[in-house]
Amino acid sequence: MPNPFSKSESLFAASKKYIPGGVNSPVRAFKSVGGTPVFIDKAKGAYLYDVDGNSYVDLINSWGPMILGHAHPEVIEAVTQQIKKSFTYGTPTSLELDMAKLMCDIVPGLEMVRMVNSGTEACMSAVRLARGYTGKKKIVKFAGCYHGHHDSFLVEAGSGALTLGSPNSPGVPEETAANTLIAEYNDLASVQALFSKHDDIACVILEPVAGNMGCILPKDGFLHELKALCHKNGALFIMDEVMTGFRLAPGGAQEYFDIQADIICFGKIIGGGMPVGAFGGRKEIFEHLAPLGPVYQAGTLSGNPVAMTAGITTLTILKNTPSIYTELTETVKNLHQSLGEILSEKGIAHHINSIGSMISIFYTDREVHSYGDAKTTDTELFGRLFHHGLKSGIYLPPSNYESWFLGKDIKDKEVEKILETFKTF
Ligand SMILES: *Cc1c(COP(=O)(O)O)cnc(C)c1O
Repeated sequence: MPNPFSKSESLFAASKKYIPGGVNSPVRAFKSVGGTPVFIDKAKGAYLYDVDGNSYVDLINSWGPMILGHAHPEVIEAVTQQIKKSFTYGTPTSLELDMAKLMCDIVPGLEMVRMVNSGTEACMSAVRLARGYTGKKKIVKFAGCYHGHHDSFLVEAGSGALTLGSPNSPGVPEETAANTLIAEYNDLASVQALFSKHDDIACVILEPVAGNMGCILPKDGFLHELKALCHKNGALFIMDEVMTGFRLAPGGAQEYFDIQADIICFGKIIGGGMPVGAFGGRKEIFEHLAPLGPVYQAGTLSGNPVAMTAGITTLTILKNTPSIYTELTETVKNLHQSLGEILSEKGIAHHINSIGSMISIFYTDREVHSYGDAKTTDTELFGRLFHHGLKSGIYLPPSNYESWFLGKDIKDKEVEKILETFKTF
């Protein structure tokens, strides 16, 4: 039988000569599932098409941004018109005003917003602003939460949580890591313990629904109690909605859980596929940001008109089409139920977490509420399932620690294909 992935394989071999590991972001290299990454040539709606001519139902949607499906005609048309007016001017544009107004209109409590070029930039700038605003130094993050690759965030608990963080990447100074304290997701007492021990905590940052250790939901009351704890201790409460923003609901987790953070970070969907991030919140806090205030933050291409156009068009469609959210939620509920039944029939231990258009399956017999729980998943089994998926025409995230992100074009036919893939595993 001819090798169905031969072109991808030769491209990967060639890429490894010129690009570290052959990729520009590590998870794309398939290290945790083994094998060779497929090289995608184009995508449309719910499908990816690779260089060998194989097609896949896309369950990651570029890690979240493509909620409208790939190559949405309205977004393409708007971007094409803007490109003719040049790509970037390095001056203010009315598009930036439109984008900021649109976001503030949709997201509860959002009064001011600053655009950046990635989720990483949004989170690192949010933390700088929190430190500048409070005059305090330390930050609290949760084990297993991802906030981009800035030094302050590449820290996790060792085996015992609640210790001072040590860097989990060479190149991150210990002094930097020492300012990042680690708590346990869904465990308020672990945060309380940190506040009892340290009086210089500027902020607590978290993913309101974790999506970077698989999908993990906050327990009832966790977010609200955490916010109250922050405020009692003079720390800001930062929600990293890079993944959940405009995905859980138009107003993200803030709308879904009826809660407002002091600073909210955005990325992914707000760029409609272009490199965009943003952070925003109350005016009184954002007045501390340059050029209004002393906390410095800048970007040559921040708010650039092409990216703003893709973002504005995407967010406007989402705002005007609430059925996208209800339909995606229905699809995920159906997947949750049916996949659970298939796995049970096969006698495969599993625990499924899902919310809105996010879902992930942990191959474990315990409930998953924290990083510790997530780590009990059977990654070897997942690796085999992943490759069975590729051969059957579905593209799962190439790591068991990543949530699936559905796009609006996943309908009955695609769901059927996903279920069939699990049945034949
Ligand atoms: C993807 C992600 C980031 C980082 O965004 P980049 O655009 O990759 O820098 C930060 N936080 C969360 C929750 C994310 O999912």
